[in-house]
Amino acid sequence: MHTEKTLILIKHDGLARNLLGKIISRFEETGLKIVGMKMIWADESLAKKHYVLDETWAKNVFEKTKTTHEREGKPFTYKDPLEFGRLIQSWNSEFLREGPVIAVVLQGPHAIEVVRKFVGSTEPRQAAPGTIRGDFAMIESYAIANSKARVLRNLVHASDTPENAKREIELWFSPNEIHNYKKEIDKYF
Ligand code: UDP
Ligand code: MG
Repeated sequence: MHTEKTLILIKHDGLARNLLGKIISRFEETGLKIVGMKMIWADESLAKKHYVLDETWAKNVFEKTKTTHEREGKPFTYKDPLEFGRLIQSWNSEFLREGPVIAVVLQGPHAIEVVRKFVGSTEPRQAAPGTIRGDFAMIESYAIANSKARVLRNLVHASDTPENAKREIELWFSPNEIHNYKKEIDKYF
């Protein structure tokens, strides 16, 4: 069984820039099925639970950001992945609460992988044209965001693993908000 569910958040910058329709269209056009969708203005508890500070996530964020800084010859002064993770988590949770976001659950074959591909690299500047971050936010970079001590405004969140997808869907949706219905395309999968 290759069917998966994944959570997308269209962050507040997507809404502020009038990109909701375009971003949702991208996901619809993949053939994946929208099985849940709503507008939510997260409180602090939800935001903190969403960007949970575990060591693996912190190390990953630290390494990605450090590598990019080094490649560009920019100073990266943080030494401790957990300390850096804590900082990003607090920026993230503030950003998530800047205004309402759109939460979407998509379902279909390889949904987690397909969606991450469409979303593109975390840093929009590195995201390929054709991806959501590449097409709509490419002027955004680590260099600018970190120098201004603010979050990378990259339009979309997408679950990255089956474990995180399950955890995040349960966090943002109750079971009766996820809808099970058939579409013509289902017979092929
Ligand atoms: N982020 C940031 N600065 C950083 C690293 C991450 O602002 O140096 C933000 C960015 O908005 C990103 C989010 O933290 O989307 C979560 O980071 P993650 O590594 O999980 O990236 P994603 O899965 O969103 O591509
Ligand atoms: Mg992530």
